Amino acid sequence: MLNSTKYQHRFSDNHEGTELPVGKVVCVGRNYLDHIKELGNEIPSQAIYFIKPSTAIRDMSNDIVIPQDKGACHNELELAFLVAKTLTKVTPEEVSESIAGVGLGLDLTLREEQEKLKEMGHPWERAKAFDGSCPLSEFRPWNELKELPYFEFSLYVNSQQRQVGDSRLMIRTVFELIADMSQFFTLEAGDVVLTGTPKGVGPLHVGDVIKATLSGYIEIDTRVVAA
Ligand code: ZN
Repeated sequence: MLNSTKYQHRFSDNHEGTELPVGKVVCVGRNYLDHIKELGNEIPSQAIYFIKPSTAIRDMSNDIVIPQDKGACHNELELAFLVAKTLTKVTPEEVSESIAGVGLGLDLTLREEQEKLKEMGHPWERAKAFDGSCPLSEFRPWNELKELPYFEFSLYVNSQQRQVGDSRLMIRTVFELIADMSQFFTLEAGDVVLTGTPKGVGPLHVGDVIKATLSGYIEIDTRVVAA
């Protein structure tokens, strides 16, 4: 295999690249009420955004590599949207024309590190932007989806269902969220938006067998290995 470790965005109907470059990942914290309650957080009056650099991205269907010396590394399975064209200060209506595909992303989070950073009022990058912190699935082409459906997705760890997500339970809808992000950060073709985790976050361990599904669209079997 040529260049098998080099990440490239892929569509699920064939395994070819999408031609889109690999850009940044813009993420939102606390977009599902059940997860806010799970960690005892407040409902934010404005969305909490953070960015993972392109160096965080890996192919989810390869092994998921977690750090060994930085405390618990938690799963956060999220809906991922691949951006097709430049978005600056757009409306939710404009967003629907600008998506290349939908898939799954894991926002791997060093939870103990994040708790320390939160206490100190520091940014979260150490906990969330490290190399390999963003495994992504292939993407289902957006133009195959006639209208915005709702999405259900799940994460299984060692055959136990750990997370169930439903896009109808988001505090901000996908289009509202991306439009709001674009008021602050220009999104470019090849960037990815992660839309927040539902409840069910927990530590991953080396040897865990992982199944991630986007109902009706994508199913991935992978496993957790040591860095
Ligand atoms: Zn997240």
